[in-house]
Amino acid sequence: MKFRNFPIYRIEWVTSAFLIGTALLAVTVVPWFLWNHYSDVQGWGFIWSLFVFYYFATGFGITLGYHRLFSHLAFRAKWPVKLFVLLFGAASFENSALDWSADHRIHHKHVDEDEDPYDISKGFFYAHIGWLLFRLKPKPPVNNVKDLEADPLVMWQHRYVHWIGLTVGFIVPPLLGWAYGSLMGFTSPWMTALACFLLAGLLRVVVVQQATFCINSLCHMVGRQPYSTTHSARDSGAVALLTFGEGYHNYHHEFQHDYRNGVKGWQYDPTKWIIWGLSKLGLASDLRRVPDSRIMAAELKERSLTLGRDIDRLAARLDARTRELKARTIAAAHDLAQELAARAEALKEAAATKAEVGRETMAELRGLLNQAAAHLESLRRADAGSAA
Ligand SMILES: [Zn+2]
Ligand SMILES: [Zn+2]
Repeated sequence: MKFRNFPIYRIEWVTSAFLIGTALLAVTVVPWFLWNHYSDVQGWGFIWSLFVFYYFATGFGITLGYHRLFSHLAFRAKWPVKLFVLLFGAASFENSALDWSADHRIHHKHVDEDEDPYDISKGFFYAHIGWLLFRLKPKPPVNNVKDLEADPLVMWQHRYVHWIGLTVGFIVPPLLGWAYGSLMGFTSPWMTALACFLLAGLLRVVVVQQATFCINSLCHMVGRQPYSTTHSARDSGAVALLTFGEGYHNYHHEFQHDYRNGVKGWQYDPTKWIIWGLSKLGLASDLRRVPDSRIMAAELKERSLTLGRDIDRLAARLDARTRELKARTIAAAHDLAQELAARAEALKEAAATKAEVGRETMAELRGLLNQAAAHLESLRRADAGSAA
């Protein structure tokens, strides 16, 4: 897309201002505040703990709530779990669970196609954040979330998502900081409140958004494809670290209703561990798992396809390489033969004129002879090899 032809009228102004504004403030005001006011503020233990709590609560709001529970119905949850993920999901400022799920279900249905809302074939930037900054085509009608529309909690969050997000994401953290500061008798509880706003509010929103945006970008670019190469989704442990365990995205696109993304026991998938933990507490049930045999079948099929492709490619390359080697050996043999003939002619002339032939020349000629014998041998061997 040429910049001067950029469709200004397609910019989503409010979303763009929020995403770019929060990111700019997070990389300017936050470091400035930490540098200049770290020693004036009391209660850093509380402030950093609140940051970490908000980071995981809003991150899991998306991965456990919006993604695995609402988009894929990978398990059932009791209302306290639903309420928690709806509150903190709203505080991650990624739209309502209803809208998020509608987009995400289209993503799975039309992955890598033009209808895919965050189609990776339009590039990293588009899949990561571009699709939110400008809308290239009108939003399709929402008709794939009837099940969620029947859930009063989901609809309540959908109606008030911005207010809930604002309250839980930006008002509660400074309130908690102020309350803690007052309770502890700090000289300035307001500074603790401000630090809570900047870290657990502002910085956390940006970090969690970028982390979850990676599910749409990096998860379709970085890693292996053990289960299928029919789509761009990939498995990567490193990306799983960034995305609360969503990095095993190749598996996820093959088996989207499994509550696990990192299906192997050793894979880093904290979202899966929490769902499992909730089920043990009686707060989640009906965890959907794809049987091991089906997973193995997918792996075997994919491996056999890759092997077939690789062998063909390797064989084609080997064949070309062998031909090239043979051609080079034959050409060298020809050169050697000509050289030998010329030297023989020269020797004959020398003998006729009774000119002396030095020992060095004789040694050199013996070397040439040996070289020719070796060449011949290698040619014969190559010939026998190709006949076999
Ligand atoms: Zn995907
Ligand atoms: Zn998904």
